[in-house]
Amino acid sequence: MRIAVVGAGIGGLALAAGLQRRGADVFVLESSPTLRSGGTAITLAPNALRALESLGYGDALAEHPFAVRTDVAAQRSPSGRTLTLLPSEVLARTRVMLREELHLMLAAGVTSGRIRLGCRVESVTTAGTVRFTDGNGVARTWAFDLVVGADGAHSAVRRAWPNDPGLQDAGYAAWRAITREPVDLTGPDGIHAAGETWGNGARFGFAPLADGRAYWFAVETDALLKARCEERDAPSADLLQRLDALFSGWHAPIPQLIAATDPADMHFSPVQELARDLPTFSQGRLVLVGDAAHAMTPNLAQGGAQSLEDAATLAICLDHLLTEPPGLVSTDRLRRALDRYDTLRLPRLREITRLSRNLGTIAHLRMPGAAALRNFALRRLPDSRIAEPIRRIADWRPPPPTCR
Ligand SMILES: Cc1cc2nc3c(=O)[nH]c(=O)nc-3n(C[C@H](O)[C@H](O)[C@H](O)COP(=O)(O)OP(=O)(O)OC[C@H]3O[C@@H](n4cnc5c(N)ncnc54)[C@H](O)[C@@H]3O)c2cc1C
Repeated sequence: MRIAVVGAGIGGLALAAGLQRRGADVFVLESSPTLRSGGTAITLAPNALRALESLGYGDALAEHPFAVRTDVAAQRSPSGRTLTLLPSEVLARTRVMLREELHLMLAAGVTSGRIRLGCRVESVTTAGTVRFTDGNGVARTWAFDLVVGADGAHSAVRRAWPNDPGLQDAGYAAWRAITREPVDLTGPDGIHAAGETWGNGARFGFAPLADGRAYWFAVETDALLKARCEERDAPSADLLQRLDALFSGWHAPIPQLIAATDPADMHFSPVQELARDLPTFSQGRLVLVGDAAHAMTPNLAQGGAQSLEDAATLAICLDHLLTEPPGLVSTDRLRRALDRYDTLRLPRLREITRLSRNLGTIAHLRMPGAAALRNFALRRLPDSRIAEPIRRIADWRPPPPTCR
């Protein structure tokens, strides 16, 4: 089976590797002239790691150096008081990785020469044709048995969907960075923790990296920030001042993390999500994975994990068709495989997208009284109320193979 994967992001690369290992003839078409470099870090929850193992990355993960474990992962108040703890068994199987290293690891799993850089896909048809401009600026049209849109939140493939909902602002913007030097992550309580701190309309999260440096993010609701969200990536002097002003009084190690970061290494962007859930992830010979299918808010740190779950699930749903000669996979047989993919993915993604959005609404409460009340309530909630959905999401397993 001849398959085009549009986009060499997390979902596209992982899927391409998984499909190739199962015998498919795969091309990855990526608009950027280089594979992703730079960027910050990403949290890989246990479900993301299981998806990677299912796609054949088990050995690469085992060889990768990850940070030594933190004692706990907690939600705290700006003064450093613990509000809730994340389930310890989920924390024990969660890893944080530099995005650049993740991309290199994923790309190393794809047969060389099959990732075509500088190829911008302009349009696709449900019959499986792809019109793209190659690295030399030449317009080309190629035909495939299946075209996978793994081209992120602004997906060109999704434009072939009737009523593509497009993106909407979530109402907050995020700074993200890696510190230049190692930082001690011990909090005011003496506990070496990772996690998030929730204030009034603002929050801050951090996690350790293998070399002692730390990954952190700061998120804020302010309308002024939203208005400035056009300035993506490097934050302006105003935005740096605002970051300092917002978090200078917060518990250790938050001000220390900001101070240990070179502003040139910071990324700043508005948080966006798909404006409406798609009713289906597939039509004709087209299928979507990752942010192209379900761009979500990052509040559960699950966008990348869900791209990987999509990739693992799609590879399994297509498995019995992948070694068929190009041109011989009927639309009926393909439809059955893609229907199974929809059935397995749509309900789970609706739930996770909604949970993530709701978590953002609660995290970004803006009136001082309301935020204090929220933190008070969080401290009193039974652990199970917080832990249960996190466990359920983390507990994902790849589906069984399709019966031939
Ligand atoms: C602040 C923030 C923090 C996050 N933290 C986490 C986290 O800790 N854990 C987690 O799991 N997720 C996290 N996420 C979400 C995660 O980053 C995304 O869900 C994930 O990167 C999506 O991967 P993808 O492969 O679907 O798309 P992308 O990574 O966006 O890749 C799409 C690729 O397609 C290419 N492309 C685009 N258009 C075209 C075209 N027309 N033709 C050819 N190629 C094209 C792009 O160049 C790109 O390489 C976070 C997101 C944000 C915003």
